[in-house]
Amino acid sequence: MYDIAIIGAGVIGAAIARELSRYQLKLIVVDKGNDVCAGTSKANSSIVHAGYDPEPGTLMAKLNSQGNPMFDKLCKELSVPFNRCGSFVVAFTDEQVETLKVLLERGKKNGIPGLEIVDVKKLLEKEPAASPEAKAALYAPTAGVVDPMLLTTALMENAVMNGADYKLNYKVESIDKTESGYKINSASGPVEAKCVINAAGVYSDIIHNMIAAPDFSITPKIGQYFLLDKSENDKIQSVLFPCPDKNGKGILVARSVHGNVILGPTSDVDQDRDDTGTTDEALNRVRQGCSKLVPTITTRNCIRNFAGMRAEPSTGDFIIREVKDAPKFIDVAGIKSPGLSAAPAIALYVVDLVKNCGIKLEAKKDFNPIVKRTIFMELSPDEQAALVKKDPRYGRIICRCERITEGEIVDEIHRPIPAVTLDAIKRRCRPGMGRCQGGFCGPKVHEILARELGCEWKDIVLDKKGSYILTGKTK
Ligand SMILES: Cc1cc2nc3c(=O)[nH]c(=O)nc-3n(C[C@H](O)[C@H](O)[C@H](O)COP(=O)(O)OP(=O)(O)OC[C@H]3O[C@@H](n4cnc5c(N)ncnc54)[C@H](O)[C@@H]3O)c2cc1C
Repeated sequence: MYDIAIIGAGVIGAAIARELSRYQLKLIVVDKGNDVCAGTSKANSSIVHAGYDPEPGTLMAKLNSQGNPMFDKLCKELSVPFNRCGSFVVAFTDEQVETLKVLLERGKKNGIPGLEIVDVKKLLEKEPAASPEAKAALYAPTAGVVDPMLLTTALMENAVMNGADYKLNYKVESIDKTESGYKINSASGPVEAKCVINAAGVYSDIIHNMIAAPDFSITPKIGQYFLLDKSENDKIQSVLFPCPDKNGKGILVARSVHGNVILGPTSDVDQDRDDTGTTDEALNRVRQGCSKLVPTITTRNCIRNFAGMRAEPSTGDFIIREVKDAPKFIDVAGIKSPGLSAAPAIALYVVDLVKNCGIKLEAKKDFNPIVKRTIFMELSPDEQAALVKKDPRYGRIICRCERITEGEIVDEIHRPIPAVTLDAIKRRCRPGMGRCQGGFCGPKVHEILARELGCEWKDIVLDKKGSYILTGKTK
């Protein structure tokens, strides 16, 4: 019997798991994906929002403003790239300038430091490629960009290093109330726990309804993107948003923490919670929206289109509470944007809920908050030479676009949460994220995976169960 079971290994479940792994608890995280970060947390704008956007008084406002300042320490501890690059909301009409004033006031009420409305001259000083037709912009110096996939993986790794268990390919089918807590049922066998935390993203209403009467619903809302090659990144240094409207924060232009340019997202209600396909029509809207903000931006250097699914809650706010008719069952539901930015603060909020619902929390003396990763290209020439001498695999470049060595790939296959698919390797250390999108390095990564895992080439999958790449030998 576990003390706590968390359903969902996205950024929210992972952040909660890491916080709870500070305490002497028997803890497990389950996820239906065959890797951590299999849901929304792998496909979003990757912005750590400043916090002026959510309505004051909401949980979104409180946890965004508390979460944002936590990123410097957290990312340093977990060796996750983070850049506090700032952001601008750009206004083109007098009416939109009034919206900026509303956002500024909201930001002040939410306690966001450093916000100011700047004129077009100052905007162009910082972002020379922004549209000269802009009238003004709201500058938020505390906004940043992060690698959400590595953040989620590192949070989960750290929880596991500190004693948490995890089960992948574990789809929760039903939940029973028992005398001592809950029995989570899956085709892979049951998991019993005194306390359950529902962090199932777009499925969080369905998980809630397994144990209590429905009192909220999730509407899936798809967001589609262009990812541009790094050659476009002289056009943007930070994040440019249009003025928000009833559909949300709008279609943005941002420079990712790795130096790519991201354009998007759209915001459309979808019937299928797992649909992450893209369409011409939606991508054309992205093109139009972005060229208004940065007229010279071109999608000719697009290396990938992708889409993520928002969990739009019927309440309009994050739903984080112990469920009334299910003691020690905690919903962490409807975590739409700014969920990534709020994740570290959500985790602390949930730890308080766990304490208040009667789970005893005794701190571990030996909790280790540090996750280390070797990024070969970030080492000094002397350090690189020493590492290659010790392990020659660091001297063999596998991914030429992102300059990733064999040593880094092998490391990912043998870490606390092993990367066992091509996409898992890509999400963690980036071979396949560059201009060739795996065209050159894919077969080499495939070969390394098969060798290190001791299996046949044809057993290696791209991502989800069954996504085989090879069927057998032709020659
Ligand atoms: C287009 C888009 C742009 C965004 N941009 C930003 C941004 O720039 N900044 C920001 O702060 N936020 C942003 N967000 C929001 C942010 O991405 C989310 O708030 C966050 O990723 C939610 O994390 P999660 O852990 O709740 O969900 P997920 O990452 O989806 O994790 C839920 C997990 O639950 C698992 N699961 C579901 N059902 C079951 C089941 N039955 N059994 C077992 N496991 C199950 C899934 O496999 C999944 O791994 C954006 C979201 C979208 C869609």
